[in-house]
Amino acid sequence: MTEKFDVTLRRIRRLSESTLDFRFDRNDGKLVIFEPGQFFRFVFTDAAGDFERSYSLCNFGEDVSDTSYLDLVISFVDGGRASQYLFNCGKGITATVSGPFGRVLVPETLPRRLFLVATSVGIAPFMPILTALSSALGKLKVEVVLLFGARSRDEFLYQEEVLAIKERYDCFTLVMCYSREVLGDQQPYERSGYVTDQLGSFSPDPDSDKFLLCGNPYMIDDCFGLLRKLGFRAKQVVREKYVFAKETKVKEKKALTKEQKELIVEKMKKYK
Ligand SMILES: Cc1cc2nc3c(=O)[nH]c(=O)nc-3n(C[C@H](O)[C@H](O)[C@H](O)COP(=O)(O)OP(=O)(O)OC[C@H]3O[C@@H](n4cnc5c(N)ncnc54)[C@H](O)[C@@H]3O)c2cc1C
Repeated sequence: MTEKFDVTLRRIRRLSESTLDFRFDRNDGKLVIFEPGQFFRFVFTDAAGDFERSYSLCNFGEDVSDTSYLDLVISFVDGGRASQYLFNCGKGITATVSGPFGRVLVPETLPRRLFLVATSVGIAPFMPILTALSSALGKLKVEVVLLFGARSRDEFLYQEEVLAIKERYDCFTLVMCYSREVLGDQQPYERSGYVTDQLGSFSPDPDSDKFLLCGNPYMIDDCFGLLRKLGFRAKQVVREKYVFAKETKVKEKKALTKEQKELIVEKMKKYK
């Protein structure tokens, strides 16, 4: 069931050079009802008025289902309206939120292998999903593979938490791919390049594997294309593209000059 409620920004933390995490509290103090992996729509108000953006909920940890706050992880987009607003605001700003929405969820029937593939802030829905799966890891016969792409090691978001899961569970595999960094001290789980390049090494099997893909739309199309060639059907590959807001501002009509008007009249004559 979707709800609409108001929130106030209570905490801002820097996770990397290009990424902040934001904690918004519900003004009515009620619990945030969501399934791990879902997103909410936020309506913010800047000097030009109201505008809406979607953000995955990145609430994770033990008390994940018992909180009245929403944690977001947001990367800066040059020239982006929400980026300008959120990366320059202070605590206390408000927003109207609706949700939850989305299909990136823990599958009802767990496959033999569940692949979580993310780039950058696309990790957001996977943090609550990993929290939810933690109780199943080690008990049920499910293997979870996280393929996570970032520009560089500095941009490996939630590194501590993800590495802790890796240390704890043998059935959790991490492959961290850096698109803009070649490391001299590469760890066994680290690679240079794109997550797409790593898919083949797992020999994905449509009979036993399921994929959740989140983040950069190009990465998602590339991975989906590869998986389709391997025989995967659309419903075995759940995709959430972090598509950006379209230009909504209608370009102002410029008044035509005298010369332009005369040129148009000349051209129109030809069609008479
Ligand atoms: C379901 C869903 C969930 C999402 N969850 C998250 C999330 O958890 N965290 C998060 O950070 N974002 C998330 N997004 C994206 C988010 O909604 C915004 O689009 C994003 O924050 C950029 O907004 P903006 O207003 O700053 O930029 P916009 O005003 O939307 O974009 C400004 C301009 O920059 C271009 N542009 C935007 N980004 C890029 C880019 N990376 N490279 C090149 N050009 C670009 C656009 O085409 C546009 O012309 C999600 C999107 C969806 C659909």
